[in-house]
Amino acid sequence: MRNEHFVPATRAIAFTMKKGQIVRIIDVAGEQVADVVAYRSGDYSERLDPSVTMDALRVYKLGKNDVLYTNKYRPMFTIVEDTVECHDLFNSACRSEMYEFLYEKSNHRSCYGNLNEVLEKYEVPIPDQHYTVNFFMNTALSPNGRVAVERPLSKAGDYVSLRAEMDVVVGVSACPCEESVVNGFTCTPLRIEIC
Ligand SMILES: [Zn+2]
Repeated sequence: MRNEHFVPATRAIAFTMKKGQIVRIIDVAGEQVADVVAYRSGDYSERLDPSVTMDALRVYKLGKNDVLYTNKYRPMFTIVEDTVECHDLFNSACRSEMYEFLYEKSNHRSCYGNLNEVLEKYEVPIPDQHYTVNFFMNTALSPNGRVAVERPLSKAGDYVSLRAEMDVVVGVSACPCEESVVNGFTCTPLRIEIC
């Protein structure tokens, strides 16, 4: 049975997955970043960890067949389909303070706030920050040390599919930043399919 969810622009959803299930995260209109967090069901001290994933894989560019690891160095997901192969492991979730710092805007929606809202029903404790895997986010590193956020390479209908390697609670935020090229200056929805 296929479960479908719609994530409106600038909003988030949360859901559970059993080991072996596959979630497809679809960029409906293109150039929309999906900030993803996940926690082990029954033990929220174990979570998806982008830094550990980079350490375990020795890469910072994700693609098909790559494993995403938890903070306890256990496989949490395997990427089984990926039509973009350009994602970000460096940036933590945007938060209202970031919009004040970069754009002098107060009370802006954020992935941090979005994820806290939707994870509440699963009683996930609010963390000091969400360290997200940012699907479709295009971060360019240059040899002189600069870190640039560039326009996503994802087009309408592009997707990534993840197989759960343990029972998990997942949060997905359609990043609400329209102030930069990170989402192509326009916030658009995501679609989630679980089977
Ligand atoms: Zn964001």
